[in-house]
Amino acid sequence: MNTDTKRVVVVTGGSRGIGRAIGLRMADAGTKIYLNYSGDSQDAEEAARLIEDTGGTACAIRASVASRQEVQGFFNKIVQECGRVDVLVNNAGITIDGLLVRMKEDDWDRVLAINLKGAFYCMQAVAKTMMKQRSGRIINMASVVGVMGNAGQANYVASKAGLIGLTKTVAKELAPRGITVNAVAPGFIDTSMTADLPEKVKEAMLAQIPLRRIGQPEDVAEAVAFLASEGASYITGQVIHVNGGMYM
Ligand code: NAP
Repeated sequence: MNTDTKRVVVVTGGSRGIGRAIGLRMADAGTKIYLNYSGDSQDAEEAARLIEDTGGTACAIRASVASRQEVQGFFNKIVQECGRVDVLVNNAGITIDGLLVRMKEDDWDRVLAINLKGAFYCMQAVAKTMMKQRSGRIINMASVVGVMGNAGQANYVASKAGLIGLTKTVAKELAPRGITVNAVAPGFIDTSMTADLPEKVKEAMLAQIPLRRIGQPEDVAEAVAFLASEGASYITGQVIHVNGGMYM
């Protein structure tokens, strides 16, 4: 086992969008970033290269967060390589939208399996390591709709509301070991997840944002970096909203 002295940061869904921005924001000479993804390796390899270009250290690893076995293999590899995990960002997420009356059971299951159960698998896989360290930061990527609700997203909203409850519960369980667990709830952010929304929907969303702009992945990455920093050591069980004022 190589017990590196670098801070070890794991970002699920780190190949593009918000996850990629988090990896880049948290990269520095003293940090090793593990970027997880489940699909094509091209985006993840590019994200890792971008981190290395800034002088950081990064490694892209394929594993679906919806598979307990793959998640366990992913964390076993990290602990074997580094001996520790300092920060876990549960960011991987998908949408399969549809109205309740038409929603297919498979679409409900798939979204819950990745967005909610995936975070459960990752937290369970990393908890013992962090407990032994008596330190660690877990940051779960929720969403503004997890507190507001949103027509056409019953599965996604349920997953994000569930993730907020899970965050608060795990925060209580792990606090005595010096581990903080928080959620970040982005509003409308410019990524591939929102790119295909019809222009009309985008305009309607923008009209609800007092700061009058769509958020950038970097806006969310700032909040995550803060929660992972020394300065946030007394913050746990919270939901930090990054939404331009869309929800107050
Ligand atoms: P995105 O651009 O679609 O990126 C999603 C990431 O998740 C990709 O890296 C994707 O990589 C990965 N992923 C998907 N399924 C996975 C799986 N089974 N296992 C591991 N990784 C998986 O989305 P984003 O907008 O950056 O969203 C990131 C997070 O922010 C999500 O949790 C999302 O719900 C949340 N969020 C986004 C917005 C927004 O407006 N964009 C708002 C609120 C919350 P692969 O395709 O290679 O698997």
